[in-house]
Amino acid sequence: MEQRQETQETLGQQASQELQQDQRPQGGKRLSSNSQRRRERRNSFFVPIVLAVIVLILLVMLFLLRREEGPQEPEPSDSSIAVPEWVTRQYLPENPFSRPGTALEEVNGVAIHYVGNPNTSAKQNRDFFASLADQTPAEEGEPDPNTYASSHFVIGMDGEIIQCIPLDEWSYCTSARNKDTISIECCHPDETGEFTPATYESLLRLVRWLQEEFDLDGGQILRHYDVTGKECPRYYVQNPEAWEQFLADLAGG
Ligand SMILES: [Zn+2]
Repeated sequence: MEQRQETQETLGQQASQELQQDQRPQGGKRLSSNSQRRRERRNSFFVPIVLAVIVLILLVMLFLLRREEGPQEPEPSDSSIAVPEWVTRQYLPENPFSRPGTALEEVNGVAIHYVGNPNTSAKQNRDFFASLADQTPAEEGEPDPNTYASSHFVIGMDGEIIQCIPLDEWSYCTSARNKDTISIECCHPDETGEFTPATYESLLRLVRWLQEEFDLDGGQILRHYDVTGKECPRYYVQNPEAWEQFLADLAGG
């Protein structure tokens, strides 16, 4: 009984302490009821989780937003096809005479040409194509005296390669096959049109790379002559065995 009295007394003291503490107007730690404590415990558990989820959502939104913005640097127009570092890219300005900007929908061949202007450099031929942009468009219904010409690549006598047009655009080089071929013009030292060994090696290298890139076999490597009957590239039309040798070298590499 004594024990029970003590307990009751103790409980009574605790109760009055709680009451006193509850009645304290300010300061001191207010003892919480069980439900308040549970709420606090739940809050101390949930609040950080909710905050973490919000932060996570914001981070994901930020990530998606940045991805949509894309890379900061502007991509070249043929970003899907990166040419090797041994090709110098010097695009022509877009213009109706040498770089119309027409999309090359498919590539079913490579057409080989000779520039027909002995002892000129790849740069000179590239610049000639660029200068065609300065022509005056013909009036509608009037005859058009303008020159339309260009090539995706020009290979110089020292084997240098200049790219004039992105690989997803038309060049004006091979008449009916402009719509589905990549064109290569080759420089030459004299009227025979025979390529120098350096030009020849660069041509092999470039055509092999294009074959790989566009999945083309030897039968899809053409002379301009094979498309239109024009004597181009001259030496390899006049000497068909030289063309056969080129195709053999291509396959042998
Ligand atoms: Zn040609």
